[in-house]
Amino acid sequence: MADQDLLAGALRFRDPATARLMTALLTRLVREIGRAPVSVMHVCGSHEQAIAKYGLRAVFPRELDVIMGPGCPVCVTDMPEVDEAVALAQQGPRILTYGDMLRVPGSAKSLADAKAEGASVDVVYSVAQAVRIARESDEQCVFFASGFETTAIATAAVIEAGPPVNFSVLSAHKYIPPVMEIVAEMPETRVEGFLAAGHAATVTGWGIFERFVQRHEMPVVVAGFEPLDILAGLVRLVELIRDRRAEVANMYPRCVTREGNRNAQRLLWRVFKPTGGRWRGIAHVPNGNLRLRDEYAHLDARKRFRIDLERLWDLAPPSLAQSCICGEIMAGVASPNACPLFGRQCVPENPVGACMVSSEGTCRIWHEYGGHLDLGARE
Ligand code: SF4
Repeated sequence: MADQDLLAGALRFRDPATARLMTALLTRLVREIGRAPVSVMHVCGSHEQAIAKYGLRAVFPRELDVIMGPGCPVCVTDMPEVDEAVALAQQGPRILTYGDMLRVPGSAKSLADAKAEGASVDVVYSVAQAVRIARESDEQCVFFASGFETTAIATAAVIEAGPPVNFSVLSAHKYIPPVMEIVAEMPETRVEGFLAAGHAATVTGWGIFERFVQRHEMPVVVAGFEPLDILAGLVRLVELIRDRRAEVANMYPRCVTREGNRNAQRLLWRVFKPTGGRWRGIAHVPNGNLRLRDEYAHLDARKRFRIDLERLWDLAPPSLAQSCICGEIMAGVASPNACPLFGRQCVPENPVGACMVSSEGTCRIWHEYGGHLDLGARE
């Protein structure tokens, strides 16, 4: 394919004239519902990044509230999970993890604090790199694994391939579909429909949302990440809400099928089992955590090491983090500017809560792009 064709393909998803048409359609559909606000939630940091980066909130109709839910994997990693990694780092093993995880606050300290105090903590760009480091080392190397099912598959592949004996995994991987149930069942929820993340659905398939839709009588639309993907997804979602149709729609058919990637799903579930556990600030999420199956207990850092959390917790100082409202933000019942620390004590260079750490965190995105944009362009 010629470069111009490739470029034309890319531009089709960012065409201003089409975006204006879609925005007008979205506005008409929202107004046909005849009440405000109409509230929908996306569960993906990449969606929020695209919305902020392309200024889409400035063109959304005023009556439409597009809420970011618990879609940032770094943000939902619970404090005790960070504490386990910090405690292990202090006990001796070398911790290898993705960059954002370094600054996520735990109860007493972050991994960055532990590293500053002399613990062996290093950033890796992939789990495969963590395995390479372990192969070249005599130390016990623990990969502190975070991320949703899309990332967990890479961890599963490495585990199944047989890593070196000095390698183990401290899994903080999460599974998205169960947390949508929690948000839908919250008494204070305003959510009337979900925009589901296209990359996760590429793996799971859109069929995974059918039971959710039946149970909660709420539509789900799978959407991609270009500006027109998001606008098209919202148009379809609002249309389904207007028509009171609880169904799944796939607006990302160039990547997502009903069945998804069966090989990836089989790999994921051969290595991991879903277990109940807390997501930071939200709640206990049944089946929301991914933990290693018993067959891989020898690679499970929780089983290989005795992790001394009590000693760490005894040292936990009173912290500003107690005022953090990340949980309410991720549940969609508050916005970052409702937090008294937002942009004051809590900034990306000195985050108090996890939502200010990752480039996929709501507070970080709002801080970076100037908050909830209202440029006066909305009618
Ligand atoms: Fe938490 Fe900081 Fe966001 Fe406030 S601004 S909710 S402290 S991350």
